[in-house]
Amino acid sequence: MNIRLEHVSKQFSNHLAIHNLNLDIRDGEFICLLGPSGCGKSTTLMMLAGLYQPTKGNIFFEDQVVNHLEPKDRNIGMVFQSYALYPHLIVRDNIAFPLKQQKVPKKVRHERAEEAARLVRLENFLDRKPSQLSGGQQQRVAMARALVKEPDLLLLDEPMSNLDARLKIEMRDEIRQLQKKLNITTIMVTHDQEEAMAMADRIAILDQGKIQQFDTPERLFTQPKNLFVAKFLGNPPMNFLDGELFIENGDQLIRGEGFQLKLNKRLNLPTSTKVKLGIRPHEMKVVSEDEGSISAIVTNIEHLGREQLISAKIGKHSVRFFVENETKIKIGEPIHLHPKTDAIHIFSEEMGENLLV
Ligand code: ATP
Repeated sequence: MNIRLEHVSKQFSNHLAIHNLNLDIRDGEFICLLGPSGCGKSTTLMMLAGLYQPTKGNIFFEDQVVNHLEPKDRNIGMVFQSYALYPHLIVRDNIAFPLKQQKVPKKVRHERAEEAARLVRLENFLDRKPSQLSGGQQQRVAMARALVKEPDLLLLDEPMSNLDARLKIEMRDEIRQLQKKLNITTIMVTHDQEEAMAMADRIAILDQGKIQQFDTPERLFTQPKNLFVAKFLGNPPMNFLDGELFIENGDQLIRGEGFQLKLNKRLNLPTSTKVKLGIRPHEMKVVSEDEGSISAIVTNIEHLGREQLISAKIGKHSVRFFVENETKIKIGEPIHLHPKTDAIHIFSEEMGENLLV
């Protein structure tokens, strides 16, 4: 099912939780709503579920405006953070519960519950109570219960936050495979960027109720539209250096404390415009003095097994970058760095937009 949000806002008494949200979601896509706590992810999901109504704007399922449609009339499946399983019901009855509400006959109910249980590999656990299942199995019961109605839209609200790190990785694979197999349009709320990057076809990054960028994981990472997205995605985060633009011998350069770098692409901005240079830790290399555009002093070395994570000072700024294990490097040593010039980002200091995309 195609989903469209057009100029959607949600006001709670004196707080504007969502501001003029526009999203166009294609049939069968897996979308993540990602952002810091309080940015409006759950509010958006609740509006899609029909538990909240937008204050302004329209939500479309295909070509139908659903703003006033009751949750039960939307044919959606939901999985919450808490799973909310019924402790007194066995797995079969937990999964079949939505069908019971729809007054589907018992025999059909049980057949469909068994089919949904097979999808999540729980066919041998149908007669157990939730307390007799592991966290991962409980999560799969919640998933089967959401799928049993064969929904047009699956809404997931931090569905893996109660699982340990290893299980999370397994479950995100499972959910993703199931979603692709069933081809159900899916919208998941998460504050975990790794989870979103691993699972989503596209991610909507929200901050303070506004969309910052709606794009593929790869483009969000390599072409962040603004400073917020650039700072939010990536671990270790992108490095930032304050600088200003100037022209020398016909070339445009960016210069700041401890660095001077020629730009590949010319920006139509006056000399002395203040900007922020952004470089991801993997896009910076230690080089010889004459190849270097940045001078730094090493302040810390972390051995990570496959590589070393180096911290260094460039003027008043701290940066981090990776070097191979074989690279000999010492704390306190002056070094020279050079970024991969087609991987740098330049943000306006005033508005924070990426001037190179
Ligand atoms: P988290 O990751 O912490 O769950 P979130 O991104 O899901 O955060 P929302 O729960 O959508 O954020 O909340 C967005 C903003 O709206 C917050 O400032 C929150 O305090 C406010 N808010 C949410 N629900 C209500 C409500 N029922 N009444 C008043 N304010 C609300």
